[in-house]
Amino acid sequence: MRQYGLLKSIVSNLRANDLFALALSSKALNETIITTSSSLENLLGRVQCSAHQRIESRPCVTCKVTTCNECRIHCVYQSIYEASGDPEDAAELPNFSGFVLLQPLEQPILSPHHLVSDAPSTAPRWQDPAGGQGGPYHDQGYLDVPLETSASAPPECIDDLLNLDLGRHSLVSMSGESRYATPSPVLFSLCQVTEVRKVEVCTSCLEHGVVHKRQASDLDAITRMPANQNLDQSVMKPTKACHCTLRKRMLDRWLCLRCYSTEELVIEAHVRENRNTFEGFCHCGKLARHVLCLWCWGEVSEEKLPQIS
Ligand SMILES: [Zn+2]
Ligand SMILES: [Zn+2]
Ligand SMILES: [Zn+2]
Ligand SMILES: [Zn+2]
Ligand SMILES: [Zn+2]
Repeated sequence: MRQYGLLKSIVSNLRANDLFALALSSKALNETIITTSSSLENLLGRVQCSAHQRIESRPCVTCKVTTCNECRIHCVYQSIYEASGDPEDAAELPNFSGFVLLQPLEQPILSPHHLVSDAPSTAPRWQDPAGGQGGPYHDQGYLDVPLETSASAPPECIDDLLNLDLGRHSLVSMSGESRYATPSPVLFSLCQVTEVRKVEVCTSCLEHGVVHKRQASDLDAITRMPANQNLDQSVMKPTKACHCTLRKRMLDRWLCLRCYSTEELVIEAHVRENRNTFEGFCHCGKLARHVLCLWCWGEVSEEKLPQIS
């Protein structure tokens, strides 16, 4: 199983607790890790975050456990390296791939040297991360179509994806060349995470902070939203605009894998309970005129919504 290679590679950078969190976060991983006890033992043998002393470590923003850069959440986690078919041929490049936010699809990651360009990159070539000369290349380069997807689409610059203002632009409608599918298969896994954070609300619920009041308490307790989201103060204030980016949410906050998957589970459960089954309607039953972001409680105003000028 191809994912097992990924597991060995991720797990060599995990604590035991994180391994179980990871197992719980995906059915496929769960089956691989939990159902074959020999592989569980094998994998646990590789749990050695504490041995990663030369890798940058910081406390997780939520649980405060010291977590190294390899064990925290990344948007694009480069975990698989394949030497080129002919290592003697300098023109042939090795292959890099990885996973997006613990989603199950393996996606190739292209270095600047993989792209055909009029102005070839002057940056050093990407190396085998095991060699210690460079990498691993998390959150860098260009994301390509998942390996098991037959659709085609252009690769996306990961830096641009990380910096995209998700309050103004949806990943779903990005790279809108009409000959490609929407959302782009390249962005399918990222969209799973960015789209679930949005809830539709009516003007009345928005203005009276009902949504905020009802929803903030359970989410705040677990995701430790910023302290300025004080309920009493925010009720009468106009809603701020969402300007969340994947970089601010996933990378600037240093978050361990377990806390990341807890956050995602809380948001998904919350959305299941509070989203009106009819699209376009608030949970109270009225017509929804606004979209709130569950990451920041700001209002999402994508181009498709009417803009006040
Ligand atoms: Zn570690
Ligand atoms: Zn944590
Ligand atoms: Zn409402
Ligand atoms: Zn936001
Ligand atoms: Zn509005």
